Amino acid sequence: MSDYKEYFDSWEAKIGSFIEVKEEDLTQRRKDAKVFAVKDNIAVKGMSISCGSKLLQHLKAPYTATAVQNLIDAGYTPVGKTNLDEFGMGSSTDNSGIQQTNNPWDASRVAGGSSGGSAAAVAAGLVPFALGSDTGGSIRQPAAFCGCVGLKPTYGAVSRFGLTAYASSLEVVGLCADSVGRTKEVFGVMKGADPMDQTTYSPPPAPPASGRGVTGKKIAALKIASGILDSAIQKGFDEAKKNLRDLGYTIEEIDIPALQFAAPAYYTIATAEASANLARFDGVRYGKRPDWAENPDELVEKTRDEGFGDEVKLRILLGTFVLRSGFQDRYYLKAQKIRAGIKEAFEKVLADKAAILMPVFPTQAFGRGEAGLSAFAQKAADIYTCCANLAGLPGLSFPVGVENGLPVGMQLLGAAFDEDSLFGIAGEYEAAHPFPHPEGWKDWWK
Ligand code: GLN
Repeated sequence: MSDYKEYFDSWEAKIGSFIEVKEEDLTQRRKDAKVFAVKDNIAVKGMSISCGSKLLQHLKAPYTATAVQNLIDAGYTPVGKTNLDEFGMGSSTDNSGIQQTNNPWDASRVAGGSSGGSAAAVAAGLVPFALGSDTGGSIRQPAAFCGCVGLKPTYGAVSRFGLTAYASSLEVVGLCADSVGRTKEVFGVMKGADPMDQTTYSPPPAPPASGRGVTGKKIAALKIASGILDSAIQKGFDEAKKNLRDLGYTIEEIDIPALQFAAPAYYTIATAEASANLARFDGVRYGKRPDWAENPDELVEKTRDEGFGDEVKLRILLGTFVLRSGFQDRYYLKAQKIRAGIKEAFEKVLADKAAILMPVFPTQAFGRGEAGLSAFAQKAADIYTCCANLAGLPGLSFPVGVENGLPVGMQLLGAAFDEDSLFGIAGEYEAAHPFPHPEGWKDWWK
């Protein structure tokens, strides 16, 4: 037990993945592997719900999210809250207003984001799984950067009740985990209809027959022009295709031209929804408020000016811009048309394929400062993840190798409500090519 505590403390000093830890629960319940961590924008009664924002730092959740409650009812115990980019806005976790999280493979690099705390905690072996939210890639991308499994479920498969909204039509609660088997098990417990979230399905519509049976061994792979992916990611992509062929899959290269518009459409819709969702943070009902204000307007203004970080302010402004009166046709409605086009293109491919294989992100975990990626480049790089959110489809990312001392992740996208096909393929892959771990990692969760 104390071994584990030492292990936990020494890793945590290096990576900073937790905003809050219930140490007693973590160490006492460790043995049965039923503990888990929760991204700090998903409510667990009595625990932190900072959303990575100074505005909500020290706020405690008054209720528990349905996805978490389903796990508690099945005997699992939430033991901590993990760091994130403020309100889920980012791809590094460096946009957190609370603390910095580092990559367990190389502490000078980012963990990815926005669920960077969850991915880093799992990859370092501190917990067997951790919940996250994925609005445009926030589970799959940090999972790829840190070297663990990341599942973004079908939109509507898992309740969003208790998830602090960023862009409601895009996001879903999912998880990072240490194996495909564990991901499948936890997803099975978390999912299901919830009267508190009208976008959940009961019963879920049946996935198209394509995912299984005759076409079960057919996979599509996204055609990507050379020079777009970093060499390590290109190599991992090529190897993943070869390894899947060796496992008996046939792979057909496909092109989805509409994808070139995915990131602009995503940022138009996500910021529009964010500008409305974040209007509730006014300092009146909860959260930090300024020491002094002359009148209510000034109270709201000061609260938001002092509480929100730059990226959040930028996105609220962008969202307000695309929604301003008389201009919806130019941005928002155009983005919705692109969204429909991407959904249709994916559905066509998935009508007779079990899944689509593609990279998660064009680079491995990036560094900071000079070795980093500009805020704009990070957004453009969301192309391979945000398309699944636009289409509402499930995506599973998993490690396929190590290059330059850092993990390389690939993802499989599937038909709506056909997570099982993704678990099937990635599970076979994992059995043939066991997932890598950072130096100093130990398996406490067998
Ligand atoms: N990187 C994307 C963004 O910054 C994804 C965020 C997310 O999924 N929460 O919006």
